[in-house]
Amino acid sequence: LRERVDVLVGADGVQSAVRARLHDPAGDPLLWGGIRMWRGVARADPILDGATVLVGGSNLAGKFVTYHISASDPRLVNWVAEVKVAEPGAVPEADWSRAGRLDDVAAHFADWKYAPADIPALLAATERILEYPMVDRDPLPRWGEGRVTLLGDAAHPMYPVGSNGGSQAILDARVLARCLAADEDPARALEAYEEERRPATSALVLAHRALPIEETIRLVTERAPDGFHDVADVLTEPELAAMAAAQRRISDADVRALNQRESWSVRPARTDPSEP
Ligand SMILES: Cc1cc2nc3c(=O)[nH]c(=O)nc-3n(C[C@H](O)[C@H](O)[C@H](O)COP(=O)(O)OP(=O)(O)OC[C@H]3O[C@@H](n4cnc5c(N)ncnc54)[C@H](O)[C@@H]3O)c2cc1C
Repeated sequence: LRERVDVLVGADGVQSAVRARLHDPAGDPLLWGGIRMWRGVARADPILDGATVLVGGSNLAGKFVTYHISASDPRLVNWVAEVKVAEPGAVPEADWSRAGRLDDVAAHFADWKYAPADIPALLAATERILEYPMVDRDPLPRWGEGRVTLLGDAAHPMYPVGSNGGSQAILDARVLARCLAADEDPARALEAYEEERRPATSALVLAHRALPIEETIRLVTERAPDGFHDVADVLTEPELAAMAAAQRRISDADVRALNQRESWSVRPARTDPSEP
């Protein structure tokens, strides 16, 4: 098949064929930190108020996250379990549709029965369990060349620890659209896109590799080894504010900075506020 196109954007995910053509796979392996993730959806009693995200444990010792995913069905709960099961190293593939086994994940959470949620029961009620190695790749010194570029996980696969992979792919698309609209030379537009997005996403890949939330968990565990009711009893207000600000900074989600930044819209600025 031969197609003539203006630009080629490789948005083909963590195992991108376009990336493999641009960058020798031998020098650009999938890197696994040793944390295995399992995930699934189950019907269970609503957790607390039915709108609560429950995060227990830590990435290194074993972590379990649950959240409700349907306003109309408060019993529908999505869960993700993360356990360090191996030493870091390169892996040949990462298939996020791969079936996981109940026994493999349940073994790590057998005694996780708390008042808000019975984790073993939640796992047992899950019809389909999937497993995935938490992988990324080293940031690239350049994404594309000429009229070819990368976007999303193809460009910057990162650990999904800060709700960032998908949202960064959307930001890529927004900047790419603006660059293409603003410059009639496609190669120059792709260069401008990469210049804007590559440094920011490379920093995120590395920041996520350090599992930033782990430091907070370590501090809380140290100060309240027997548990706590309110994290404000364990961490001071300035500490909490600094941790939240650090997370927003690495995610580029600082509201004030975002509001001060020029819009990425390619539409002319509105002069009449009543215009749609
Ligand atoms: C367990 C887990 C939880 C996550 N949680 C979050 C979260 O809360 N928030 C967040 O923002 N991100 C999260 N992510 C990350 C997020 O899912 C990814 O970063 C995001 O899907 C990347 O989008 P993408 O379009 O770049 O790639 P993908 O979503 O992987 O899409 C790539 C597409 O390309 C297609 N494709 C691949 N090869 C070819 C080919 N040769 N020809 C044609 N098509 C091809 C694939 O079929 C796929 O449809 C999570 C990831 C995991 C694994």
